Amino acid sequence: MNNKSDKPEVTDSDCLQAFDHLYAYINGELSDPRSVAMIEHHLSHCRSCYSRAQMEREINDRLKNSGQPKPPPGLKSRLDKLIDEFEDE
Ligand SMILES: [Zn+2]
Repeated sequence: MNNKSDKPEVTDSDCLQAFDHLYAYINGELSDPRSVAMIEHHLSHCRSCYSRAQMEREINDRLKNSGQPKPPPGLKSRLDKLIDEFEDE
C-alpha cells in the first residue's frame, strides 16, 4: 500500500493509539496534553472513533446520572469467592 492520497488517512494503528487513551480522555483522567491533542486530532479526522467516543461519553453520563458509577461493593468479594471455588476443583 504505497499510494498516498493528499487526504488525511486514518490507519488502524492511529485508531489503536487513540483507543489506548480514549477512556481516560472521556473520563477526564488524561493529563498529558500531547495525548489529549493527539486524540482530539484523531477524532476530528476519524468518524468511527468519533462516534465511538460519543457513545462512550453517553454511557458514562448515564452511569453518572444513575448514581451508581461503581459496581456494588459486594461484587468483588463474590467474584473472588467464585474464582476460589474454580481453583479448588
Ligand atoms: Zn480512528
